[in-house]
Amino acid sequence: MIENKAPGKDVSLEDIKTKFPLASKKDPLHYSNFEVGGVNFGPDFAPVFAGPNMVESKELILNCAKNLKYLGASFLRGGAFKPLTFPYRSDKYNETREKGIEWLFEAKAKYNIPVITEIMEEKFLPLISEVADILQIGTRNMQNYPLLTACAKSGKAIMIKRGFGCSLRDWLGAAEYVLVEGNSKVILCERGVVAPHTHRETSRFLLDLQVVPAAKEITHLPVVTDPSHATFWRPWVKSMAMASIAAGADGVMLEVHPDPPNAAVDPLQSIDFDEFSELMDSMSKLGKIVKRKKIGEKSV
Ligand code: PEP
Ligand code: MN
Repeated sequence: MIENKAPGKDVSLEDIKTKFPLASKKDPLHYSNFEVGGVNFGPDFAPVFAGPNMVESKELILNCAKNLKYLGASFLRGGAFKPLTFPYRSDKYNETREKGIEWLFEAKAKYNIPVITEIMEEKFLPLISEVADILQIGTRNMQNYPLLTACAKSGKAIMIKRGFGCSLRDWLGAAEYVLVEGNSKVILCERGVVAPHTHRETSRFLLDLQVVPAAKEITHLPVVTDPSHATFWRPWVKSMAMASIAAGADGVMLEVHPDPPNAAVDPLQSIDFDEFSELMDSMSKLGKIVKRKKIGEKSV
């Protein structure tokens, strides 16, 4: 299956045996199969995680939960505790923290949609666990091993976003930190890496689509992508989401906001409900071609 030090691989057979034995496949057709919040993760189904970057207000998150559930999202996403790039806050550019968790809770209960939200500090694990079906470890915390261990011990499903400067080997190492605690509900998310030699002189991130087949060659864990954070640019989200499904991604995370230009965070990368709806239809059609039974929850 995997040649030791085959060209282009930074993972050796030795790594597979000794560094991440739990994350590694036992045979080529070995894929994790587990359920989170009533949603199946496995080779047939590709869940869609959708919602605003930030849980800005109760009104926003209820609106998103209602519309995105109807349009076929499997999970509602949104950060209440957020790694904001700059420390200066305004009324708009500010985490909603405990209030945001409360609003997510209301949205989840009212529209019966499971939730994924970010955790940055262990001390908030009990609070965030009240609402999160999946704990999101952000790119900046992929190598925060004490946080990974604490989250793993909670028994909650965990999405590990790939560190934007991390290799596949590093990423699988992070997954192993969760698996070794006996928690097998791990999802890997490629969200763009820092790549200086790309088409854009000012590119912040590049969606590493090749890591999808590369990871799936080695690990049985589901591998999803986040084209919103990778492209940072709304007009490219659709094509990169489609490309992710074509590349074999096990799901897609999308930033969706009813009024993207007025989103408090990441206004340039969020798509609106109409764009999301169109993309869900296109991904469903593509899913049939790549032999996924379903993309998201919408019946087609
Ligand atoms: C997010 O999904 O809101 C987020 C902060 O993502 P990342 O950690 O990939 O930057
Ligand atoms: Mn963001």
